[in-house]
This record gives sequence, C-alpha cells and structure tokens, in this order.
Amino acid sequence: IEFINVTKYFGAFKVLDNINFHVKKSEIIVICGPSGSGKSTLIRCINKLEKIQEGKILFHGQNIREIKSIEIRKKIGMVFQHFNLFPHLTVRENITLPLIKVQKKPKKEAEILAEETLARVKLSDQINKYPSELSGGQKQRVAIARVLAMKPEVMLFDEPTSALDPEMVNEVLDVMKSLTEEDITILCVTHEMGFAREVADRIIFMDAGKIVENTDVNTFFSHTDNPRVKEFLSKIM
Ligand code: ATP
Ligand code: MG
Repeated sequence: IEFINVTKYFGAFKVLDNINFHVKKSEIIVICGPSGSGKSTLIRCINKLEKIQEGKILFHGQNIREIKSIEIRKKIGMVFQHFNLFPHLTVRENITLPLIKVQKKPKKEAEILAEETLARVKLSDQINKYPSELSGGQKQRVAIARVLAMKPEVMLFDEPTSALDPEMVNEVLDVMKSLTEEDITILCVTHEMGFAREVADRIIFMDAGKIVENTDVNTFFSHTDNPRVKEFLSKIM
C-alpha cells in the first residue's frame, strides 16, 4: 500500500494534509496520535470508506480509484471500535453472511470457514449465540473472525480495544498478536503502546492531519527531539 501526496478535506477542513507513506507486504504498522488528528480517516481511505481529493493510494501498484470498492474490501478487511456485528444474526451467521453474499461462497464452505475462524479466536462454543449474549471482548473476537474468514491480505483495525473493559483488552490483543505470525499486513490505530512495542514493525504518529513521525518502534520510544511525540507519550504511558 502506498500513499502519494494524499490530501483529504471534509468541506473546507483539511483532515489529511499531504500524506506519504509505504507499507510493505506482511508489515505491522501501528498508527497513533491525538484525537482528531486523522487516524481513522486515513485508514478508512484505504478500503474506500472515504474519498480523497488529491494524490493517490496504490494497492499492489494500482490506483485504488480504479478498483471497485467490493473488490478492495474482499482483500482489505476492517475491524472497528464498536464491533459492527449484525445484532439480529447469530455469531455463525455474522461470519457466513458476508462470505455468501459478497464472496459468493456456497453455504457449506462458508460454515466450515466460520467454524475454523471461530476456533482461531477461541470462540467455537459461542457459535449459536447472538451478539447481545456476548461480552465486549468476545464480540470483538467475532468481528476479527468475520474478517479473517474472508482471507484478507490486509487488515485495518480502528482502536479495536478502546471500547472494551480493561479485563477484556488482553484477550483481543492476544488474538491480534497471533495474526502477526501470519502473512497478513496489518495497519492498526491504537494507543496500546505495549502491543505496539511487542509486535509493530513501525509506528506512524499523526498530528493535525500530518504524519509527524514514521519510524521503527525502538526509535519511536527512545525518541526525544520531537516535542509532539514526547507530549503524547507522556500523557498515555
Ligand atoms: P480519534 O482519536 O478521536 O478517533 P482520529 O485521529 O481518528 O480521532 P478522525 O476521526 O480521522 O480523527 O477525524 C479527524 C478530523 O476530521 C476531526 O476533526 C473530525 O472532527 C473530522 N471528521 C471526521 N469525520 C468527519 C466527517 N464525516 N465530516 C466532517 N468532519 C469529520
Ligand atoms: Mg479515530
């Protein structure tokens, strides 16, 4: 994935200001920065949930403007802060429905994928429940299983643990850590700096629509000359 001079406005407000970065296959990138700095908007542009006004975003060298949204979303899955599960569907159906509707998979194959991915997030025993019967951590693991079942090349996470009670954060981070052992490219907006330190290849720090820092984890945490990064770290660590 490559951002080249990407600028995006909401009306007159410049939410992304000339963004440039490159993500290699299988890289794990953590994106952090203050509230309102444009982190969610940045990752939403990657799977075309938001449009950009200037510059271009490349996926395997191809401008995503030329790729249909549905095709992008088959390859680039997204996990949201508030899970976004279908409340009227069981856990099984939450996973199989997109496979059947979007990927046109036969029902039987979709059900096998649902069972496999639920086993990976350790929720096989919850397959017939409805989202309302699950804890926050379990809901988020179902949301991750739903994306995994699509066998994506890239997974985007937007603050996947920030709506969870503290005791449920680790079960979700553990599942995310297990993903990093695979070939999946991950871009994750999070303020979980322990997670970042442990698994990220690089950290991108945003402020006011700009990338202020894009560096390896060690440099980021030992970095002392960027006052914005210092201020941010002092507040959250
Ligand atoms: P947070 O940490 O609070 O989630 P963020 O870094 O993810 O913040 P964004 O959600 O990307 O920030 O928003 C960046 C800026 O764009 C904010 O000032 C926000 O108010 C504004 N914004 C976001 N979405 C829209 C929208 N749909 N219309 C207008 N302004 C928006
Ligand atoms: Mg956000």
